[in-house]
Amino acid sequence: MVERMKSSSNLVEIHQIADYEYYQFEAKLLKYVKEVELNIQRIKETCDVSTVTPLPDIPEFSNRFMNLYWRIINNQPITSSEIEVSDFECFICTEEMASDQKTLQCEKCKKVTHHECASKWLKINRSCPNCREKMLDPEEFPNLSQ
Ligand SMILES: [Zn+2]
Ligand SMILES: [Zn+2]
Repeated sequence: MVERMKSSSNLVEIHQIADYEYYQFEAKLLKYVKEVELNIQRIKETCDVSTVTPLPDIPEFSNRFMNLYWRIINNQPITSSEIEVSDFECFICTEEMASDQKTLQCEKCKKVTHHECASKWLKINRSCPNCREKMLDPEEFPNLSQ
């Protein structure tokens, strides 16, 4: 699905959004599968269903991604404002950044993200979600990021 979206669009931003969505989805899916396996193991060992822990949410793609996906597949035009995010919005989750929220800015392209969002992304990618410049979570690697 992500590959189809990427091959249907030449826009760099679309590729980035698709990649990001894919990584997020994969991470969620892994977590989900792990939890299911853990529960199967528990039931096998104890024969007791009450030891089962509630499962995390079934992974799914975000609404934003789904909207873009269908529009691209159906060859509908995407305006740049839909994929461009303003500087007051987090580049990753596209939600507005409140002044009391911790943020992280890429040194190269100056895109700003919530620290929380960037931290999740950087665990998987170690590069800026926008320009792909090498980037590390300064809290996780306080010395390396200097
Ligand atoms: Zn965010
Ligand atoms: Zn950047």
